[in-house]
Parts: sequence; C-alpha cells; structure tokens
Amino acid sequence: MLNELKKLKDLQILDIQIFEKEETLDSIPEQNENLNEQIEEMENKLKELRNSIAIQDEERQKRVEILNKGEDKLKGITGKQSAIRNKEEYGALLREIDNIKRFNRDLSDEIKDIEREIEFKNEELKAIEDETVQKIADYRKKIEENIKTMETLDSDLEKMYENREALAEKIRPAVFRKYQRILESSANGKAIADAQNKICMGCNMTLPPELFNMVLRSERIEVCPNCQCILIPCKCEESE
Ligand SMILES: [Zn+2]
Repeated sequence: MLNELKKLKDLQILDIQIFEKEETLDSIPEQNENLNEQIEEMENKLKELRNSIAIQDEERQKRVEILNKGEDKLKGITGKQSAIRNKEEYGALLREIDNIKRFNRDLSDEIKDIEREIEFKNEELKAIEDETVQKIADYRKKIEENIKTMETLDSDLEKMYENREALAEKIRPAVFRKYQRILESSANGKAIADAQNKICMGCNMTLPPELFNMVLRSERIEVCPNCQCILIPCKCEESE
C-alpha cells in the first residue's frame, strides 16, 4: 500500500498545481469584466465632457455669427448718415445705432462668458485626460495579457490533465476512486496529508495513537477524522 500512497502523493502534487491554475483561470474573466467596466466609466466621463464642450462651442459659434451680422448692420447704418435729411431722422438713426451697439455688446459679453466656460472645461478635460488616458491604455494592455494568460493556462491544464490520466492509470482503481472522492469534496484541492509525530499535517489535529500506528503500517488507506485527508506516513517522504 505504501507504494500506492506514494503514487497518490505524486498525483496530489499535480492536482494542487491543477487546482491553482484552475483557480487563476476562473478568476480572470471577472477581473477583465471589472477592468472593462472601469474603462467604460472613464471613457464615458471623457465623452460627456467632450460633448458638453462641443455643445458650448456650437452655442459660441451661433452667437459669433449673429454678432458678425450685427457688426455688418452697424456698418451699413453708419453709412446711411449722409442720407439724413432732418433732426428727427438723425435722432432715430442714433437710437438705432445705440440699440445695435448695445445688442452687439451684450452678445459679445455672452460669447466671452461661454469662452471662459469652455476654457474651464478644457482644463478639466485635460486634467481628466492626464489621469485616465494612460490608465485606460494600461487596463487595455492588462486585459490583453489576461487573455493570453488564459490561453496559456488552458494549454498547460490540458497537458497536466493528460499527465494526470497517465498517473491515475498506474494507481489501483479502488485507491484512486477514494482519493478522487475526497478531492472532489475538498475546498482547497487537497486530499492527502502527511502524518508526522502523530499529527495530521493537513489540519494539525493530533491523531489517535491507534490510527497513527495504522498509518505507519500502511496496510490500508486511513483518513484523518477531522479533515478527511488520506494520511501518508512520514517515512513515505524519507524513502523518496
Ligand atoms: Zn487532518
């Protein structure tokens, strides 16, 4: 039986590696999902700000066009001065000029306000870009790396499962089945524990002396009453 236990030990070493790789593999999709969510959030923030700047720029452009028309109108009206025939007409013209000038001035103030706002937003955009553009690129890179890691893990695991099958074939079926049952119900991928100085090294429980003696004799498979691991006598290690 000692020989079978040694084979189980080899299998356990491989199974722990498989377990760890599977764990890593399982964790990657969620990691990538998280990264994607963060990228989307950052990109949305940038997009919103850029949109809002574009809208304000449109508003500014509209006002500039109206202002240009106002300036033209003012020029046109000033040119009419030579056609004035009397004081009333002159007064009316001055009032009209005043009105247009006031209108243009108000518009010009509005344009300045909008420009100032655009400037603020551009600064904000620049700050957010400084903070996030590199981050987005880094996250994208990380996602790519993760995908490559998954591919590597997949092919590694495939090979490991092949090795596992080869190892399992050499173990007595009943022994292997027992090991497999314990492994499947284990949360940490462990189905084997060393028994050393009357202690189960899997869970640190002191083993009953009779059980420990049985383990040392290795006539049959003994399991730890606490963690359910198959107990391997320590000399198994020494004889390797
Ligand atoms: Zn135990």
